[in-house]
Amino acid sequence: MSAEYLVDLDVFARNLARVREAVAPARHMLVVKDDAYGHGIDAIVRRASAEGVTWFGAFDVETGRAVRAIAGADARIFVWLLGGVADLAAGVAARLDLGIGDEALLDDLASLPPASTPARVHLKIDTGLHRNGIRPERWSAALERVSTLVDARAASFEGLWSHIAEASDADDDNAREVFLSARTAAAAAGLTPRFSHLAASAAGFARAPFREDLVRVGAFSYGIRPAGGPSETELGIEPIASLLATVVSVEGDAVRIDLGHLHGLPSVLQGRFSIATVAGGRRVRAIEAATTVVDGWPDAVPGDTVVVFGRGGAASATDLAEAVDTIGEEIALRVSPLVPRRYTSNGPRSAR
Ligand SMILES: *Cc1c(COP(=O)(O)O)cnc(C)c1O
Repeated sequence: MSAEYLVDLDVFARNLARVREAVAPARHMLVVKDDAYGHGIDAIVRRASAEGVTWFGAFDVETGRAVRAIAGADARIFVWLLGGVADLAAGVAARLDLGIGDEALLDDLASLPPASTPARVHLKIDTGLHRNGIRPERWSAALERVSTLVDARAASFEGLWSHIAEASDADDDNAREVFLSARTAAAAAGLTPRFSHLAASAAGFARAPFREDLVRVGAFSYGIRPAGGPSETELGIEPIASLLATVVSVEGDAVRIDLGHLHGLPSVLQGRFSIATVAGGRRVRAIEAATTVVDGWPDAVPGDTVVVFGRGGAASATDLAEAVDTIGEEIALRVSPLVPRRYTSNGPRSAR
């Protein structure tokens, strides 16, 4: 056997149930950007659909179309990276929910040939992150353009949304004030969104007033806890994936495994964490290109399996992240496509 990333879809289903409960009565939008945070979008979307997830956050149109192909005609699929006319046309054709944070995109929408279905517009207010979003001083101009599109049946006003930093409660509170005024202004302009959405994992779990109609949850769905924040147990989630490797040689008091920085294990982590072996935790000594050297154990033999991180391991992705001052997603996303994904499951609840 060689290194693999083993994803337990039944654990994923438990996390989905936990997220659903935590954000209720708001709905869970499962964020599946970056190949479902490295877990593999096909298997993740398929299982989520079987578990009753109806909203997906897909980031870009290409991913949105991939989700449509798996999740079927009824799924709602939100995308928020839109690159102009061709992208918008493809998004409308696939009946994606379009996160519009730029007035130029409203002009582009107006320039599209009439489509059989109106574009599903979710207008984004910039609540202070300055990443993307309509600035408050341009909000009423943007609303006017949306009204024109709605009157022409070129668009339906599906949503009002923003993204918050989730780093400080005070900043998030200020962002929420801006969000609420934007909604008041939209209502005054005759535009009442069917869906409001503002929060991701952290605020969605911790702060009820931020839940609105939909909570866009990525990290917690995959069991990735926030760096420096509450534990998995406190959150009621579990990591769904284990990064497994195999012993290739025993070298004196050390053991070499078949996974290195080419597979996505950052070299900077050497000396800073332990892997799980049959004999317990063993310290990582050196991370090389294709292999890693760890402290040995009695009776170690080539072919033995170890857990480098994740489910069943000595450390989670976020534990590793904290050792080098980053976030768990960063570690999870680095697991290279060179490492095959494998899935275990007893099947969806509905099929058991
Ligand atoms: C990535 C992302 C999310 C999900 O964030 P998590 O912290 O992983 O839950 C939500 N909304 C937007 C706009 C994002 O880009």
